[in-house]
Amino acid sequence: MKRLQPLVERGAALSQSERQRYARHTVIPEIGLEGQERLRNAKVLCIGAGGLGSPVLLYLAAAGVGTLGIVDFDLVEESNLQRQIIHGVSDIGAPKTQSAKAKILDINPDVNVVLHQGQITRENVMEILANYDVIVDGTDNFATRYLINDACVFLGKPCVWGSIFRFDGQASVFFADHGPCYRCLHPEPPAKELAPNCAVGGVFGVLCGTIGSTQATEVIKLITGVGEVMVGEVLIYNALKASFDKIILNKDPNCVLCGTNPTQTHLLEDYDSFCSVSLFENIDGWEIPIVSATSVTQMINSGSDFQLIDVREPWEWDEERIDGAILIPQGEFFGGTATANISRDTPIVIYCAHGIRSASCAGILIQEGFRNVASMDGGMEAWKTQFI
Ligand SMILES: [Zn+2]
Repeated sequence: MKRLQPLVERGAALSQSERQRYARHTVIPEIGLEGQERLRNAKVLCIGAGGLGSPVLLYLAAAGVGTLGIVDFDLVEESNLQRQIIHGVSDIGAPKTQSAKAKILDINPDVNVVLHQGQITRENVMEILANYDVIVDGTDNFATRYLINDACVFLGKPCVWGSIFRFDGQASVFFADHGPCYRCLHPEPPAKELAPNCAVGGVFGVLCGTIGSTQATEVIKLITGVGEVMVGEVLIYNALKASFDKIILNKDPNCVLCGTNPTQTHLLEDYDSFCSVSLFENIDGWEIPIVSATSVTQMINSGSDFQLIDVREPWEWDEERIDGAILIPQGEFFGGTATANISRDTPIVIYCAHGIRSASCAGILIQEGFRNVASMDGGMEAWKTQFI
């Protein structure tokens, strides 16, 4: 946590009606008229008017943030309404930016709402972000997340980040001038097979409120200088346990972007390809790709399409096995009959008891021209320890 100077200057004195509207704010000594003037002077950009963007925009509008920018390319769909509370039934089919704007102006007609209809891209990101004091990342894909982070670092802007998947949420403030950036937390994106995907994996709707409200809180603290902001810490929330944990996140001295000797000084040419690295590709040669048991769990949970092959003996299989696996004992790999039962079209994860047999079977498949093959590290033993 860091105590920072207010990011935004005070503006003109509040009008009588503004004093009335924000009376519950201004009476708080830490905020006062001064804090409210800073809020009115602030420009906040929310990228994504979805699950996280909804509570962020609603609360920032109510709080009196003077300018709210919204970036979104999507239209409101019925399946959004379970969590994207800024939109309603009458908005279905309309651009999310328009729907959000109408809702914001209904709450607070004094807000200057600036719409950036479309996608944030490497071509427009610097120009758009440059106009704002604080950037809120309400996106749900890694390519955009890295793009926003990189642009924020280059522009010296704070990025208030949130992330949700099923019952788990995370939030932090990445502000490279004062602490770590997103790449200090995740130097590289996860393999695409392992990237949590809310469309496939689902999201517990109300979780957006918890994490989005946390983001809105951090935005207000950045603007007003009240309290300490979540720079250098990541909040980890689990809805099932009602647990809030925080981990310390230090600036990575080797961060390519904000480390001691940064090597990346411009936006990447292509964020989509940066974020679509596959776990099992590029395996020419003899290094057997390894995948952890927890990654396999994530692949199963996220519904990713892959073959899970158990190469132990039938008696071991009868004792215990992983749901969804098929049994092809090791001998069939050495005997050459295994490959007939294995598709070449989807990734393959092989496991055994400890990861020894599976590695040699993976090697056989690779030798026979299979691609996207990995051995599960530690085998069934490692698998079971996840659930202890
Ligand atoms: Zn960094």
